[in-house]
Amino acid sequence: MTDATPSFDALMDITARPKAVFVRGKGSYLWDDSGKRYLDFVQGWAVNCLGHSPDAIADALAVQSAALLTPSPAFYNAPSLKLANALVEKSCFDQVFFCNSGAEANEGAIKLARKYGSLNKGGAHEIITFEGGFHGRTLATMSASGKKAFEPLFEPKVAGFRKAKLNDLDSVKALISPATVAVMLEPVQGEAGVWPATDQFLQELRALTREYGLLLIFDEIQTGVGRTGKLFHYEHAGIEPDIMTLGKGIGGGVPLAVLMATDKASCFAHGDQGGTFNGNPLMCAAGLAVLNEVSKPEFLKAAADAGQFLESELQKLSARHGLGEVRGRGLLLALDLKLPVGASIVAQAFQQGLLLNSPQPDALRFMPALNVTRAEISEMIDGLDAILLKSGVARQVA
Ligand SMILES: *Cc1c(COP(=O)(O)O)cnc(C)c1O
Repeated sequence: MTDATPSFDALMDITARPKAVFVRGKGSYLWDDSGKRYLDFVQGWAVNCLGHSPDAIADALAVQSAALLTPSPAFYNAPSLKLANALVEKSCFDQVFFCNSGAEANEGAIKLARKYGSLNKGGAHEIITFEGGFHGRTLATMSASGKKAFEPLFEPKVAGFRKAKLNDLDSVKALISPATVAVMLEPVQGEAGVWPATDQFLQELRALTREYGLLLIFDEIQTGVGRTGKLFHYEHAGIEPDIMTLGKGIGGGVPLAVLMATDKASCFAHGDQGGTFNGNPLMCAAGLAVLNEVSKPEFLKAAADAGQFLESELQKLSARHGLGEVRGRGLLLALDLKLPVGASIVAQAFQQGLLLNSPQPDALRFMPALNVTRAEISEMIDGLDAILLKSGVARQVA
């Protein structure tokens, strides 16, 4: 910490952070205030889909901030209309509501499902979610999450969430009752360590929810906006959910999230939903810059190719060190370490100027910029290779 750095103690101590202060980012690289450079395979947790501080977002923010920051959420503005129309055009949904965080978008999805239940299903309000799932840190989204560490916290929980097992249709069926209104899931469980739902499970879930008249809600906050090689993950399974949430990548680094619904599910009345900053033009201008870039077929193709290259390089690395499987899709991948050494590897990588993430003690998660280059992927693999060699993980696994 240099003399000019203010004290760290003024911030609530909500997580263990390395004692570095980041001052600049460009593409796949970040710099701290000592001038040290880091290769970033976390990207704000799958947020900066165009990399750090891309010109497209910087320009959109500069132009919009000089023109209009916010008129009022009770008035229309051009960027939110343009972004809403672009999202509707590129997806299976008919209407959108903008908000500021993924958790807020999921709160909106939960409210929308409960409203749908009160209008159409005699007050049905229960939502089936999944063990290991993560939907955010508000009280309702923590209650919807199936994260073990959340269980003892902030009692009493918000009622009305029942947990099934991912890729186990019978476990979903067993929870359906007249009180059920929806099934909600991440198509790839991100925070739990990158555990994908199979396409077959997603297709069966769509058929099951249709059979029982339940809404199907996809939390694509981590998987959406090109992260898995298609614009939205649901396209892989060839199905259409009723409700979807986006966050993280859609803002490309600024706080923007989206609740999307089909005509059938979009049932809010005046007064049901709102928020001071919903659809503010500044964030929507950034979102529009992101969506324009990411939805180009050549951009998505390049991201899918980069994902395949990263996956095959990780598989080779795993074989060299006797580690476990590589799982995930596109540029949302995890490497099974077979041992609880994730945190130690992340700390060593940080020292060497490589930013990695370990969502679970025995896994590393990779979520680079969607425009990451092969050279940057190779640089990351070489760095990780050296750390694994030095720490002798292969010997411990054997
Ligand atoms: C990050 C995340 C959230 C929460 O988003 P915030 O913007 O942190 O509130 C919800 N669901 C999934 C799948 C996420 O990855």
